[in-house]
Amino acid sequence: MDDFARRLLRWHARHGRHDLPWQHPPDPYRVWVSEIMLQQTRVATVIGYFERFVAALPTLPDLARADEDRVLALWAGLGYYSRARNLHRAAKICLERHGGELPAGFDDLVALPGIGRSTAGAILSLSRGQRHPILDGNAKRVLARFHALAGWPGKASVQRRLWELADTHTPEREVAAYTQAIMDLGATVCTPRAPACPDCPVGADCRGFQAGNPEAYPRRRPAPARPQRHAYLLVYRRAPDQLLLEKRPPAGIWGGLWSPPLAETEPVTAAPRGPQIRHGFTHFKLNLTPLLLPPPSSIMDATETRWCGPEQAAELGLPRPIQRFVEDYYAGNIQWQEPFTASS
Ligand code: SF4
Repeated sequence: MDDFARRLLRWHARHGRHDLPWQHPPDPYRVWVSEIMLQQTRVATVIGYFERFVAALPTLPDLARADEDRVLALWAGLGYYSRARNLHRAAKICLERHGGELPAGFDDLVALPGIGRSTAGAILSLSRGQRHPILDGNAKRVLARFHALAGWPGKASVQRRLWELADTHTPEREVAAYTQAIMDLGATVCTPRAPACPDCPVGADCRGFQAGNPEAYPRRRPAPARPQRHAYLLVYRRAPDQLLLEKRPPAGIWGGLWSPPLAETEPVTAAPRGPQIRHGFTHFKLNLTPLLLPPPSSIMDATETRWCGPEQAAELGLPRPIQRFVEDYYAGNIQWQEPFTASS
């Protein structure tokens, strides 16, 4: 048994949860029902539902023979009803193929609907004392922090490493207590936010705690790459220091702020181009190509557009990247690429 397991067991003897209804007795059926209920729901909520459920359907054959409506009624309020339907289907399979018992072999158990590797490990260790690692949300958080494991657990390689670590720490003896201990530690000490590291039995060796940033683990899902959008910034100029600015419509990007007009398509093909302006919004990245243009033949809405020199522009609200561009423009710092040099 490694030091991690030893300390967890010692802690659990004093501080762990020993009075949960599925622990008395921890038979496979009761542990199974509790593990499925606990998949998306907190212990405090599950207790009442569990007690009602096993009072109404005390054995696996009772569940297998019950109407689906009755099972769902007992589940009502817990949510994620596919869990209840899978539980019911699995019970029927056990009645047909496994003599009305939950199978004692890992492979048979994990083949049942709604039972993944961690749930199968929890059922077999808690109810039969078989040595199997678990990796529920609590165990994952404890192990990722203890080892300061880099990478997002949704990634296959990180997941594999977590299973290896879970396996390494799982002891040969007292496996039921160890399984309960790592779940309890995650639920009560190594909580998602503000873990109580000074009270933690493994804090002295916890790399996340020792590095001062336990909450950085497990790593969050990386933000998906934002799509790129392209548009043109129409830099109409009337005199070297007179630019046309318009007030942006209230909805959409930079709503209500002032900017040279934007266009999704190029209005003319032979205009000089300025260097691209790149700006990141929450859901996309915008690449703007400035085009230098002569004054437009008509201005549609005189109240929402203005010819501005540097002083007037400074009084209007411009988005930061546009403000930087406009200041560079007035300062003569924009390098316009031919095809031709526009004249005012
Ligand atoms: Fe979790 Fe803190 Fe304990 Fe590390 S020391 S396992 S972060 S509670």
